Amino acid sequence: MGLVKAMGAMSGKKEKRRIILIGPPGSGKGTQAARLAEKLGVPRLSTGDLLREHAQKGTQLGRKAEPYMARGELVPDEIVLEMVGQQLSEESYRDGYVLDGFPRTLSQAEVLARMLRERGQEIDVVLDLEVDARDTMRRQLGRLVCPRCGASYHEFFRPSRELMRCDHCGSALVQRDDDRPASVLERLKVNEEQSGPVFDYYAGQGKLRTISGTGSVDEVSSKIEQALAKEED
Ligand code: AMP
Repeated sequence: MGLVKAMGAMSGKKEKRRIILIGPPGSGKGTQAARLAEKLGVPRLSTGDLLREHAQKGTQLGRKAEPYMARGELVPDEIVLEMVGQQLSEESYRDGYVLDGFPRTLSQAEVLARMLRERGQEIDVVLDLEVDARDTMRRQLGRLVCPRCGASYHEFFRPSRELMRCDHCGSALVQRDDDRPASVLERLKVNEEQSGPVFDYYAGQGKLRTISGTGSVDEVSSKIEQALAKEED
């Protein structure tokens, strides 16, 4: 065990980590990133959520990003990088975070590394959730969200108590524009094209850990925890 880790263990302090969670759309990375962030006591930064928030509020950034998102294409790097740079410079991200859906291109990964290097930091580990393409289709096509409180459901796997109504606030549930079949297919294609170089980049640094994303939410969470526990050895 390294000195910093040993000291952390002696003081009983939970170690904060800089973690990236990547995986194809519909791999469950959003759910898993939220769970992991809570467990580690660090914030989760989801570029998809942030972009949707900007789009909903109608900010300049959101208006630029919206058409790309609706088509299932990647939002241009400069927009995403500006947004992530702003967020990561906030105090709450100083000691660690779980990045969800970022970086998605090699240049995003390279800029992130540069940004962190300037602060004397680096990414600790990259978790890749591997899920079969048919499974990701099934997961995305049934996905429903509450436009008011953000709760998410799945018509087949995690339905709301009342058909198409949010359990928490009673609002009518909607399907995300990019969860419609044409956008889902486009997102899978884009992911296949872009993810290879990102995997190679982190694999080359010895940071990539592939985890099977098949199984229940609890099963996948425990696989993630096991993979992280191995890092501590
Ligand atoms: P997600 O919720 O992660 O599936 O992201 C939804 C959509 O937001 C994607 O299909 C892209 O249009 C956009 N997006 C999210 N993260 C990124 C990123 N890192 N780079 C470019 N576009 C992104």
